[in-house]
Amino acid sequence: EQIKQAAVIGGGVIGAGWVARLIENGIQVRIYDPDPTAPHKLAAVLGNSRHAYSKLTMAPRRPEAHFEFTADLASAVQAAEWIVEAVPERLDLKQAIYREIEQAASPRAVIASSTSGILPTDLQAGLQYPERLLVAHPFNPVYLLPLVELVGGQATAAQTVQRALDFYRSLGMHPLHIKKEIEAFIADRLLEAVWRESLWLVRDGIASTQDVDDAIRYGFGLRWAQMGLFETYRIAGGEAGMRHFMEQFGPCLTWPWTKLTEVPEFNDELVDLIAGQSDAQSGHYSIRELERIRDNNLIAILQALKTYDW
Ligand code: NAD
Repeated sequence: EQIKQAAVIGGGVIGAGWVARLIENGIQVRIYDPDPTAPHKLAAVLGNSRHAYSKLTMAPRRPEAHFEFTADLASAVQAAEWIVEAVPERLDLKQAIYREIEQAASPRAVIASSTSGILPTDLQAGLQYPERLLVAHPFNPVYLLPLVELVGGQATAAQTVQRALDFYRSLGMHPLHIKKEIEAFIADRLLEAVWRESLWLVRDGIASTQDVDDAIRYGFGLRWAQMGLFETYRIAGGEAGMRHFMEQFGPCLTWPWTKLTEVPEFNDELVDLIAGQSDAQSGHYSIRELERIRDNNLIAILQALKTYDW
């Protein structure tokens, strides 16, 4: 199946990233977003993605395809074979959007939600053709990061998941099929644990936001980018491997080091502390400049990782 026409509903940070990924892979896109500033924001993301793709020689790409904003949702979806939903993270809003989609779209068109955490079974409740909905959770910047988590709900057809695996691979992505649905899927669960612990470290005055970032980027972040967690630890176990590593370090997990599931109170004081330090860290750059730095580094890493099977 060769997808030629897609729709993107919601052209914010993630929707714009999807548009870039799609048109750079030769797929025509119609976008619906009621915000009049959406085209301007999309233009900035497309500037970044064109710059990135001109440097990245990894996946063979078709010539850039055409995109257009439509005045209403129906015109965006009526000829679409693939419908990407990237509206704000609210179940009622997403369900209302799906009802509108179903009034205008082909029943064969896949509806792929970008949600970061809502269960697909909840999203597809009330759909006329629920078997064609699944979660395809991407990572920012969508035009560069390969991972997309695919999660089906109780009513999602196996064929929809298979079509999605094929489609996202054709976009140069690495789809990860999550076999059982769970809120926040895999990657964001891991990130939430690190994020929660980081907030405590800064709140308790043990580290600055810069210290936390440095602890990640000069150390385990580099290892994680190329081998992940388990393989890194297996090597750390020496010749005896993972078994030895677990015997040695497993018991530490019961020491009272971490706050585990406790979350610091999200009051003004915490927000001021974190935002103040974080702004001071890189506030001399604009967000646009930081995106370029991030993208150039990601490209260098992605190119280097071609030498390892991932
Ligand atoms: P965002 O606020 O940047 O963009 C949402 C866009 O949806 C806005 O441009 C808004 O105008 C538009 N919108 C609002 N109501 C609409 C409607 N009725 N019809 C069409 N468009 C409408 O948000 P985002 O960060 O792009 O998040 C979108 C989705 O992607 C969420 O479900 C979020 O959980 C998920 N997501 C976000 C990230 C991230 O890092 N930001 C990562 C992965 C997934």
